[in-house]
Amino acid sequence: MEIIRLKPVFKQMIWGGNKLRDEFSYDVDAENIGECWGISAHPNGDCTVSGGVYDGMQLSQLYAEHRELFGNIDSYVFPLLTKIIDADTDLSIQVHPNDEYAGKYENGSLGKTECWYVLDAEPGTTIVIGHNAKNHQEVADMIHDKRWKEFIREIPVKKGDFFQINPGTLHAIKGGTLILETQQNSDITYRVYDYDRLTDGKPRPLHVEKSIDVITAPYHEMCEEERAQISKGLQRLVSCNYYTVWKMDVDGYSEFAQDGKFFLASVTDGSGSINGEKLNKGEHFIIPYGYGAIKFEGEMELIISCP
Ligand code: ZN
Repeated sequence: MEIIRLKPVFKQMIWGGNKLRDEFSYDVDAENIGECWGISAHPNGDCTVSGGVYDGMQLSQLYAEHRELFGNIDSYVFPLLTKIIDADTDLSIQVHPNDEYAGKYENGSLGKTECWYVLDAEPGTTIVIGHNAKNHQEVADMIHDKRWKEFIREIPVKKGDFFQINPGTLHAIKGGTLILETQQNSDITYRVYDYDRLTDGKPRPLHVEKSIDVITAPYHEMCEEERAQISKGLQRLVSCNYYTVWKMDVDGYSEFAQDGKFFLASVTDGSGSINGEKLNKGEHFIIPYGYGAIKFEGEMELIISCP
């Protein structure tokens, strides 16, 4: 059995940088590639299988027609989405609804839980995670009064940091940050604040009232106890209702033996192989159900997840 390699979908963004082109040797020559959707079956960016028996097939079709590769899970859509995001300028400050709110107000859509592993951050960079309001009324007041400095919780960020972003958590990355995001397969985002910037002379639309509805207050910092060393080189970053995410550092030889249905994996640094098949930095692939013992060789860092 072979791994399923995927060809990513690239998104040009006004805030995007050039690290995806210059540091990951992806075959893109455009400027400002903000997002690389590495493992996605979402209609806004459906990845194509590269090589092997299913060469050329889109991931959504593979998932629909060969559910056995995914352990016959019963999720109607492919459950997860992996992206690499390269921000050259600050992204707008956002919040996502949970499944219940999105189901009710966004035509039955899923909510969005996501998490970020920081691949790189320029010195002095900060990140927005959470807010400083004491309760829901104060959230509404601070937003209506535009008391952004007081409201927004901004903390230093560095390579190797990890953030779980539950629905209702205010969040944004700033210029100079490169992250790998693992998320629920949903695109529902409410924009709270865009630093009063103009695009073509106009501010981008905000979703102030929906944001106030869904922001949880007060903000509770994520408990670090989820992050745990499993074995030498293997660290679990988080385990929640939607996914488990690990970071694997291969230094010569490592085995990965988990009993999930299937795994999503991305090589975020270095190169090596999986059961003899070559892997390079920036490659995204799926380890299908029933693949058997997983042996990595080489010098590389991977982010691995499963639903
Ligand atoms: Zn988000």
